Amino acid sequence: MSKLLEVKNLSTSFFTKYGEIKAVNNVSFDLDEGEVLAIVGESGSGKSVTAFSIMQLIAKGGRIVNGEIHFNGQEITKLTEKEMTRIRGKEISMIFQDPMTCLNPVFTIGDQMEEVLKLHFKELGKAERKQRCLEMLDKVGIPNAEERLKQYPHELSGGMRQRVMIAISLLCSPKLLIADEPTTALDVTIQAQIIDLLKELKEEYNTAIIIITHDLGVVANIADKVNVMYSGEIVETADIRNLYYNPSHPYTWGLLKALPRLDMKENELQPIPGSTPDLLLEMDHCPFFDRCEYAMECCRQSKPEYYETGENHIAKCWRYHPDFPKEA
Ligand code: SF4
Repeated sequence: MSKLLEVKNLSTSFFTKYGEIKAVNNVSFDLDEGEVLAIVGESGSGKSVTAFSIMQLIAKGGRIVNGEIHFNGQEITKLTEKEMTRIRGKEISMIFQDPMTCLNPVFTIGDQMEEVLKLHFKELGKAERKQRCLEMLDKVGIPNAEERLKQYPHELSGGMRQRVMIAISLLCSPKLLIADEPTTALDVTIQAQIIDLLKELKEEYNTAIIIITHDLGVVANIADKVNVMYSGEIVETADIRNLYYNPSHPYTWGLLKALPRLDMKENELQPIPGSTPDLLLEMDHCPFFDRCEYAMECCRQSKPEYYETGENHIAKCWRYHPDFPKEA
């Protein structure tokens, strides 16, 4: 399988009056066609900024300060906005946490779907565009598609709006779909339906997916591999099975312990103590040091590198240094 996406040493910063915020710090990963990567971590860990860097939609005050992003064999960080517009929405699509903020309230669903086709498929006539929109609404499980095309976003439920967003993002059959917390604003039953839908669409179109979430439970069912992000860095990468059954990084242990389970009694949830570090501060120690119950003197003195902890499994933690004493 060829690599569809290669992110190499990506760093994205925001420049504020207080200084440089290193939101994404030297991040590297890749993705094959049809593969699903989950990026997990708390708010402020850099997962969404990583996605927006790939889309070249970084908020005001921010920019890529280092690294490369190769998509489909092309380095895209150097493209002009005009060149990027041809890729965005057509070859790389994104769905967001709250579809209400992305769908325009004053246009019908049909107008908004057709707009995407007008931009990327100028050769299509009105009837063909409408047919394609109907087929896609049908594909994402929206009943009475003909009627829905005439409706406005506020006339649909949250789950239906998210399905419309997915339909819009898939209209051009993108090679890569980035889903930024796509189920956070939905209740659990609809969450499961949306994840199942993404899974089906991935099977059908061989679309690669990056799913961004703070909830490791959401991705168990869909992801092939996981990047755990903390403080702008990837601290662990593993395939999904290894991450659940053999997690390596103390931060991942904390995330897994914080997951609610059906057999848990009340008050058994274990949140990770403390809060994420201030990204304005230059860090020359392990960024998880202040919250880690396994922290050692070496963790305070310098940053760990990546160490292999298994097959296709790496973690940024001193516990995996070759000289770290092995448990008997
Ligand atoms: Fe904890 Fe040290 Fe590992 Fe950081 S390097 S996660 S402080 S044990």
